[in-house]
Amino acid sequence: MSSDLVVVYHRQPYEEHVLPDGSTELRENASPNGIVPTLKGIMGRMGNAAWVAWKHADDPANPDFERVIEIDDSFGKYKVSRLPLTPAQVSSFYHVTSKEAFWPILHGFKEKYNYDPVDWPTFREVNWAFAEAAAREVSDNGVVWIHDYNLWLVPGYLRQIKPDVKIAFFHHTPFPSADMFSVLPWREEIVRSLLACDQVGFHIPRYAQNFASVAHSLTKARTITDELTSDTMTPRGAALSERFTPVTMEHRGRRIQIEVNPVGVNTDFIAEIASTPEVDEKVEQIRDWLGDAQLVVSVSRTDYTKGNIEQLETFERLLARRPELHGKVRLMLVSVGANRAMTAYEEVQQRIEELTGRINGTYGSFEWQPVSLISTAIPLAELVAYYRAADVASITPLADGLNLVAAEYCLSKQPGDVPGTLILSEFAGCAVLLNGEIPVNPFSYASMDRALDQALAMSEEEKVPRMTELRTSAKRWSISAWSDRTTRQFELLRRADTGLDGAIT
Ligand code: UDP
Repeated sequence: MSSDLVVVYHRQPYEEHVLPDGSTELRENASPNGIVPTLKGIMGRMGNAAWVAWKHADDPANPDFERVIEIDDSFGKYKVSRLPLTPAQVSSFYHVTSKEAFWPILHGFKEKYNYDPVDWPTFREVNWAFAEAAAREVSDNGVVWIHDYNLWLVPGYLRQIKPDVKIAFFHHTPFPSADMFSVLPWREEIVRSLLACDQVGFHIPRYAQNFASVAHSLTKARTITDELTSDTMTPRGAALSERFTPVTMEHRGRRIQIEVNPVGVNTDFIAEIASTPEVDEKVEQIRDWLGDAQLVVSVSRTDYTKGNIEQLETFERLLARRPELHGKVRLMLVSVGANRAMTAYEEVQQRIEELTGRINGTYGSFEWQPVSLISTAIPLAELVAYYRAADVASITPLADGLNLVAAEYCLSKQPGDVPGTLILSEFAGCAVLLNGEIPVNPFSYASMDRALDQALAMSEEEKVPRMTELRTSAKRWSISAWSDRTTRQFELLRRADTGLDGAIT
């Protein structure tokens, strides 16, 4: 039976475990947090859904490769169509083209862009295979929902294979300005593919506006309607604020709905795990261990976009500038390496380790180690204990699509905890969604220094109302709000005539 919703996401919707006898067991993701369980939740609501992902196959032509499987888990019954890709194809389309060429441009790092190893025919071939798989699964009036830049060419191919299908695309990263996007030599091909969608989605108005402007620069696409961005979403004058949000575009006689819907935090899950007796106990242990020192936490992946090096440099300057804080402040830097060997990430990791060693070596003592660097992932249930115990969360990416950690920190706080202060980069997407943070420009030493001084000195009278405001704004963009809006939008999309004479209402 064909499906009314087909999710196209590069990763499979479960974890694969190889058992001692060599067979593979599929297990539901242990944590309900993260994008995979969220997408499955939406599939479960729509019913009759399918998921398209890739799976390693040494020989894609092997007749024993089970391509389509039926899953029955807590989200319901759904089909998974697995594309057999060789390790060489995965490396080329994902690790090289997507991560070495697209990723730096999406985040504004021209100098990190690596064109030479890109094999564009392989990128096209893999995207075509995803489009074919989606076309096979989707019903005649179903929606195909494609995720992220590594599948940028899928909409255009799908439109060729199945012209009347409804296509939605969601970007989980920033979308750059035309000047930045134009570094990509495949710019027109990518944009024309995205314009084959019925709906293109982004976290915040700035990314949507950037997409519209890239489309204007490369094609005859026009923005037909836009609207004043709601004040709750965009404080005026912030680095990522945008006064108008595009709503509909037109290209070659078709309408494209531009959707702004930030993926939020699993607020219920955070509240649940943060309030367990085990976490209470852990928080107490951490606070006892801290004594009268303040704890600053910073949590992210090891990536040049996340600003971890700048974070450590700021902390080093603090200790050099303010000897009175020696022994009175600790930085816990969780910087989790991506599961892949890439020179750009290895360089960042190496620099982080060097700086941590230098700071601890210069300022530390037997009793006091200023920086605790943690490079392996901490389970979220444990992380929330550190969030609760921390006086300050310092989240200072140079560019970040949204950043969930900032909101998780605020939502973890429980009555009786230290109230907490959030230092937040103006270049994290969530900076236009949260209120009450100390905004910081991670490109400025002065701004970073000022923000840390301000956070460490803030009085409880100031912290409490700020944290209340932060929590209220964080709850507004919860994962359930994202899912509700998406489900509603898809119902409308399935009924809509997206020709120019039809109206999407
Ligand atoms: N996270 C975690 N353990 C760690 C580090 C991070 O569980 O040791 C989680 C974190 O709580 C958040 C997610 O990983 O839910 C990271 O999401 P974010 O949007 O902040 O960054 P991304 O990695 O998606 O760019």
